[in-house]
Amino acid sequence: MTFQPPGAHGETFPVHQTKRTDITELSRNQLAAWFEENGMRAFRADQVMRWIYNRRAASFDDMTNINKGVREQLARHFSIRPLAIVDDRRAADGTRKLAFALEDDNRIETVLIGEKDHYTLCISTQAGCAMGCTFCMTAKNGLIRNLTPGEIIGQVMAAQEMCPEDRPLTNIVLMGMGEPLANYENVMQAIGIITDAENGLKFASRRITLSTAGIVPKIDLMGKDSKIRLAVSLNAPDNDTRNTLMPVNRTYPLEVLLDACKAYARVHRDRITFEYILIKGVNDSVGHAKQLAKLLAPIRGKVNLIPYNPHEGSPYSRPELSAIEAFHSALIEKHYTAMIRWSKGDDISAACGQLAARK
Ligand code: SF4
Repeated sequence: MTFQPPGAHGETFPVHQTKRTDITELSRNQLAAWFEENGMRAFRADQVMRWIYNRRAASFDDMTNINKGVREQLARHFSIRPLAIVDDRRAADGTRKLAFALEDDNRIETVLIGEKDHYTLCISTQAGCAMGCTFCMTAKNGLIRNLTPGEIIGQVMAAQEMCPEDRPLTNIVLMGMGEPLANYENVMQAIGIITDAENGLKFASRRITLSTAGIVPKIDLMGKDSKIRLAVSLNAPDNDTRNTLMPVNRTYPLEVLLDACKAYARVHRDRITFEYILIKGVNDSVGHAKQLAKLLAPIRGKVNLIPYNPHEGSPYSRPELSAIEAFHSALIEKHYTAMIRWSKGDDISAACGQLAARK
């Protein structure tokens, strides 16, 4: 059972009466509201957050600049619960796929990708996914549930601990399991803490990229609510092809989606990344490439071409190398910025579209 009194700034905060709440489930304002509701000063929220996110306190007892009575109140209502890693696999190229067990025994996967001098983390935002993209392994499970803000932040905190100081985690992509914009409130709350430069995890917004299948109203909202970068999983230059790959296209067809992208690029003065998974015989002809270049010409963006990563039971396959290169060249000839991205970690099923939730 959850008790949700309004906070000082109109916020509500989840406090479970039967079980202590993981403190990372609360935003800064929710935590400040909780302190005020309980007769304490709101600035305590900043102190507690610094202990949790900067100094990685393992218990409230570690918070030595907070008096004992306050610490006891905190311990009665809240817990500090890092996500439990239950599997850690390394690919030949060094990519690591981490599996986390959630409180309800669901599992999610996160991928840590090593670059020359830093790491990039691909995080999940849902257990499973309801979007039904026909090329994606996560879709096979359907949606199990949304991840909480704490479960989203927990993936980042766990990965940070694994990165050496001279090769830190600097970039985050929300491209793991789930459609981030279908879990909008929780994702935005997590982003708020991940980018909080004073008390949170201190990531620059420009180093965070959210990838969506194209939930247009939420793209518009995200343009107002945050400064993070936008990536769109496009995968086709026409509605007929996209309808067969991504059911969301029937609700928000290409022309509507691309208008939203144009607006996002304008407001943020940024380039949109378009991901295009190349699938043999489906969307990989030079004709498709020319159509794509024409479609995207009015938008400030770039295309990442991702050769399809086959998985068990998939009806699709990867195009020949010559077809991939011909597609790429056709985009370049039309002066559109495009790169071929060979997914990392495909020998441990950590590549794009290969993550799966299990119980
Ligand atoms: S590609 Fe992304 S949005 Fe589509 S089913 Fe897979 S996880 Fe969901």
